[in-house]
Amino acid sequence: MKIKKLIPSFISEVKGFLDEEEGMRLFELASEACALGPCLEIGSFCGKSTVYLGIACKRQGRTLFTIDHHRGSEEQQPGQTYFDSDLLDSRTGLIDSFPCFRDTIQKAGLEEVVVPMITKSHVAARDWATPLGLVFIDGGHSYETVMADYQCWHPHLLPGGFLVFHDIFLDPSKGGQAPYEVYKQVLASGLFEALPMTNTLGVLRRHLPMVVKKQACRRHRSEHISC
Ligand code: MG
Repeated sequence: MKIKKLIPSFISEVKGFLDEEEGMRLFELASEACALGPCLEIGSFCGKSTVYLGIACKRQGRTLFTIDHHRGSEEQQPGQTYFDSDLLDSRTGLIDSFPCFRDTIQKAGLEEVVVPMITKSHVAARDWATPLGLVFIDGGHSYETVMADYQCWHPHLLPGGFLVFHDIFLDPSKGGQAPYEVYKQVLASGLFEALPMTNTLGVLRRHLPMVVKKQACRRHRSEHISC
């Protein structure tokens, strides 16, 4: 496959929970989204998904903004299931995935494409004003965090832009349900259409204004309200 040749081979060694098929889909979505605007990722960890998105942005002359406090999620803390001692900063005793992330971005030649924001999602969103072509949500996985990420960032998504969630598990025995719960609520809002999933990647596309208007009219008609 041609796209595979564009992704550096060291990607398989980068720490992270994104599989290759999901990565390739991110690349394709970002390639299309770049026609609209820059892309934004929430939850970069060591930069695996960042490389797939970033290479697409680089080819289109676009910027990829990334958000991660780089202190690890709850389950990555010492004593927890996904703790990795390589990421422990011995000076502070805290997880710090930023050196690993920076190394990945440098090796992938993305230092002039990726703009990292080392903070929490809601802090980065506070004064944000740039319309976006794609938002990838893969930060904290509690219901409250995923919902807050959606609420902070979806107003900046351009019509026709992609809203992508990682870790959508249709089968509860395969993984936590919070991202899926948010995904279903977002879909029910009528603002997005669902595109085919790739493994656990849930892909939504923001309707163009005409579609939203037509849907709103249909709803209003059923409620006997003129529009
Ligand atoms: Mg994930």
